[in-house]
Amino acid sequence: MCGIIGMFSDKDVTKPLFYGLSSLQHRGQESAGLSIGNGQEIIRKKGMGLVTDVFTPSILEEWKGNVGIGHVRYSTSGGSYEYNSQPLMAFARGETLSLAHNGNLINYQILRTRLEEEGMMFQTTIDSEVILYLISRYYHGDIVDAIRKTMDLIEGAYAIVLILKDTLVAFRDPYGIRPLVLGKKPGEGTIVSSESSSVEIMGGQVLRDIHPGEIVVIDKSGQQSYQYKHEQKTPKHCVFEYVYFARNDATLDGVNAYMFRRRCGEILYDEAPANVDLVIPVPDSGIPSAIGYSQRSKIPLAEGLVKNRYMGRTFIKPSQEEREMAVKLKLNPLTHVVIDKKIVLVDDSIVRGTTSANLIRRLRDAGAKEVHMRITSPPVINPCYYGIDTPQRSKLIAANYSIEEIQKKIGADSLAFISLEGLDKATRIQGEHLCKACFDGVYPVDPIVL
Ligand code: AMP
Repeated sequence: MCGIIGMFSDKDVTKPLFYGLSSLQHRGQESAGLSIGNGQEIIRKKGMGLVTDVFTPSILEEWKGNVGIGHVRYSTSGGSYEYNSQPLMAFARGETLSLAHNGNLINYQILRTRLEEEGMMFQTTIDSEVILYLISRYYHGDIVDAIRKTMDLIEGAYAIVLILKDTLVAFRDPYGIRPLVLGKKPGEGTIVSSESSSVEIMGGQVLRDIHPGEIVVIDKSGQQSYQYKHEQKTPKHCVFEYVYFARNDATLDGVNAYMFRRRCGEILYDEAPANVDLVIPVPDSGIPSAIGYSQRSKIPLAEGLVKNRYMGRTFIKPSQEEREMAVKLKLNPLTHVVIDKKIVLVDDSIVRGTTSANLIRRLRDAGAKEVHMRITSPPVINPCYYGIDTPQRSKLIAANYSIEEIQKKIGADSLAFISLEGLDKATRIQGEHLCKACFDGVYPVDPIVL
């Protein structure tokens, strides 16, 4: 769970990258960083916090360069420390390389141990450093060759942007698990980003998605595309990007997140109608689906929870007590709306069950007569090894309890999850082109659990 961005241009890329990276902020709030190349050297700044905490107006004025990359981090491999923030940098055979990665390698520990035994000293505890190290090791003037050799070794999910002092490179794992979009800013240059919306925000046009296993190289001479291997795998795009992670305005691998979420709400009503007075979304992720549920059912949509937009993610708080407090601070029931009403509460997922249990209890305290819960993803029963922060199986409520038991635990009058078929239908792309391992346990790349 991270966001990456890159730009190659005739003009300075620092400010456009700052704006683009800010529009990926929802993908990670722990650290932010930019690396900018000016043909002679690469300068980098990174630090803990939001994009606007790390980058002051003076830095943006001082820095100049026509190629650059950026990263926002939500840690899924290695702890949340400054030394683990990105972009990373390395020096190899007279070149400077800087890299930013979204995803998770499943064979990271094996590769790292092997490299450590060979004498390699690491400066971080993240899998991305292994990737940069391997590319630097294989780099002898041909970056595509170095990336291909690295891709022979690394397994798992990766969308990567990399710069040399005058070249931008973007590549994606052979299954295209994590997203990466290619765009153009007319008369200026090329943009790559985790999400299409940042290309638009930077004034560009989205051209297409970078293909699974594709390596795109952009420099003064233009844009070249290479495929890692001729034989292509069936893509396995992460469905959780559409369920929860991507911004509503992102279109990734042919699926628009907002339209998908709305369709999920409609399908969920067909699969699990509720006889209630109001449809209430859990903001923000439940909003489009609640709209879909309301439009299909003709039950009025109402705002029943007020969100504190300045609170971070509830999910990542270390202890259960703190997690409960964080949900409370983040969302508060609107008593005047819910009092004496039968409501259906729509959210995108139940992971540990903390959020729904807490919200249902407080909606009842606020006077709701009945609270029915509808979830626009199937039960999360398997951990993700490819970069979505889901906890181990023992903490996943749906891996340990039946739907009836979960309903009791969270205190709902009824509970229903969208079916896997319903989810496929909502994407409008072929079901086999999606990674749904968190729901169905079918992992495109076998996890290595040491
Ligand atoms: P939980 O309280 O553990 O059941 O978490 C479910 C809530 O967290 C839902 O409201 C989701 O919108 C949100 N959520 C789902 N998956 C994640 C994730 N991987 N990271 C952060 N938040 C998440």
